[in-house]
Amino acid sequence: MTPICLVGIGKIAVDQHVPAIAGSHDWELAATVSRAGTVDGVPSFTDFDQMLTERPDIGVISLCLPPVPRYDYAAKAIAAGRHVMLEKPPGATLAEVYALADMAQKADVTLYTTWHSRMAKGVAPAKAWLADKTVTGAHINWKEDVRRWHPGQDWVFAPGGMGVFDPGSNALSIITEILPMPIHLQSAKLHFPENRDTPIAAQMQWTQNVTGDFDWRQEGPQSWDITVETTAGILDLHDGGDRLVIGGENVVAGDNQEYPALYDRMAELVKNGASEVDVAPMIHVADALTLGKRLVVDPFHF
Ligand code: NAP
Repeated sequence: MTPICLVGIGKIAVDQHVPAIAGSHDWELAATVSRAGTVDGVPSFTDFDQMLTERPDIGVISLCLPPVPRYDYAAKAIAAGRHVMLEKPPGATLAEVYALADMAQKADVTLYTTWHSRMAKGVAPAKAWLADKTVTGAHINWKEDVRRWHPGQDWVFAPGGMGVFDPGSNALSIITEILPMPIHLQSAKLHFPENRDTPIAAQMQWTQNVTGDFDWRQEGPQSWDITVETTAGILDLHDGGDRLVIGGENVVAGDNQEYPALYDRMAELVKNGASEVDVAPMIHVADALTLGKRLVVDPFHF
C-alpha cells in the first residue's frame, strides 16, 4: 500500500476521503495536516512544511482544503517532488491551475484535478449513449441546501468561494463530460445576497439550447438533475448522476462510490506516471461570473 497524506481535515475529508482511503487496497493514510482536524490513529501535523520534511516516505498528497488556500499547498508539494490530488474546483482561478499543471510536468509528478461527480455511476454510460446522438437541448436543475452541505462555511461566500457554483461545478463537470459537442455561455443571471460576495443562485443560457438553474436555498428534498433532449429520445440523470434514465427506462441506479473511484484513478495515474488536468467545468464558472448580470437578493446568514 502506498502512503498518502490528507491535508485539510474538514467536512469532505471526514465524510468521503477518510472512508475511501480506508476501503482502498492501494492507499494507506499515513499522515494528516490540518490546523485543528485530526483522524483517529493517524499521525497528525499542523505544519505542512514540517510534514514534507519529516515524512519523505509519503510521496502522494491529497488536498481537501477550500480552493483559495489550496494553491500554496499544491505548489509546495510539487516543489517537494510529491504527487498531488486536488479537490474540486481545482483552484480559485484558472491561471493557478495552469501554473500547477506546468510545475507538475516540469517536476515529473502526477497532478490530478478531481471532479467527483464525473465518477457517479450514470455518467460514463450517459456519455457513451450520447456519443452518436444529435442533441437538441439540455437543462441542468441543481438545487440544494447550503446550510446542510456547507454548515457555517463562510468561505463559500467569500471571494474565490464561488458561491452556488461550488455545487454547480459538479453539474458542469457532468455536462462537459457527457455532451458530444462543445457549448459556451451566452448569458447568466447571478443572485448575490446583499451581505455576501458570491452568488447564492444562478440561471444560465448556453449555446445549443442548453440551460441551467442553480440554487442554494432549497430545503427538503435536494435536486441534482440533468435532462438531455436528442432526436433519439430523452436522457435523464438524477441523484447527481448516480441514476440514469433513457426514454423513461431506468438504465443505471448505483450507490455513491465517487470517492473510491477517484482514489482508484489516482493510483492508476501515479502508476502510469501520468497527470489528468481538466478545467472545462471551471471555464463555465468563470464565464458566468464574467458575463452574468448581478441581482441583489435578501441577506444570507447560516
Ligand atoms: P471545510 O470543511 O470548510 O474545509 C476543509 C478544511 O480545510 C477545514 O476543516 C480546515 O481545517 C482547512 N482550511 C479551511 N480554510 C483554510 C485556510 N484558509 N487555510 C488552511 N486550511 C484551511 O470545507 P469542505 O466542505 O471540506 O470543502 C473542501 C473542498 O472540498 C472544497 O473545495 C469543496 O468544494 C470540496 N467539496 C466539498 C463537499 C461538501 O459536501 N462540503 C463535497 C464535495 C467536495 P483546519 O481548520 O483543521 O486547518
